[in-house]
Amino acid sequence: MATTHRLELDDQTLREWDAVVVAAGPDGIILDRSAFYPGGGGQPPDHGVLIWDGVQTRIVDARKDDGELLLVPRDGDPLPVAGTTVRGAVEDGRRTALMRTHSGLHVLCGVVFRDFGALVTGGNMDELSARMDFNLEAVPPGFKESVEEACNAELRVDRKIVVRSLPRAEAFDIPDIIRTATNLVPDDVKDVRIVDIVGLDQQADGGTHVASTAAVGRISVVKVENKGKGFRRLRIAIGDLWASRAGCGQRSRSWPAPARPTRTCSPGAGRRDRCWSRRSRPRGAAGRAGPG
Ligand SMILES: [Zn+2]
Repeated sequence: MATTHRLELDDQTLREWDAVVVAAGPDGIILDRSAFYPGGGGQPPDHGVLIWDGVQTRIVDARKDDGELLLVPRDGDPLPVAGTTVRGAVEDGRRTALMRTHSGLHVLCGVVFRDFGALVTGGNMDELSARMDFNLEAVPPGFKESVEEACNAELRVDRKIVVRSLPRAEAFDIPDIIRTATNLVPDDVKDVRIVDIVGLDQQADGGTHVASTAAVGRISVVKVENKGKGFRRLRIAIGDLWASRAGCGQRSRSWPAPARPTRTCSPGAGRRDRCWSRRSRPRGAAGRAGPG
């Protein structure tokens, strides 16, 4: 059992907390509690700082090593000894940008699966830009524009993003829960963390996410690359926030007007149906994403 309690898995908004150093060396510091995301699922690790006894240790990397969470200190920074109480802080700008980007990729993934039946074969993200690879045989005319428009429709309706853990068997009973072409959940994982963009996309996922799609921002599909037979790479950029549904009538002036005429703001009614009925379910997609 790992030493560190992973606070970010319980509360993705947490940025500061108190902890006790369990072990420390130049290769890494182990805390009893930490909110540093160690990287994984394409999401890079957090950066931040530990503050203790009037000094600071800058954290430039975090990673899992033999099950333990190691916080990597910047070269030359002072190291707290075991037993020291520290104040930990995750760099908010970077983490929040990565959360928006990660959630944006799930929206992309949900849209491409729903509308084109394609599964993910790879991906990577940086702050507010990302790429995702799909096993898509053919690229229909207008694909790039169509994906971008459908993604932004999903962002604008402000779908909740809910994270929960389920026992492995129960999780794998959910249809299409594995959205990668191969199941990357290790055999020994007993509880599977599920990230659910309610009404659009459910995936087994260990990353950190924003609370609803309106917190992602606009998605631009920058490029669609053909990387070989059935191998398409989509590059996206995340822009400013869409005005949230709750913000109807009180929309900030700095937010640009939506591209379409504004519809009346009646939460729930109409919008979801409209989005879902825009295109039919992917043909032949069912069953392609079983836990394999
Ligand atoms: Zn993910």
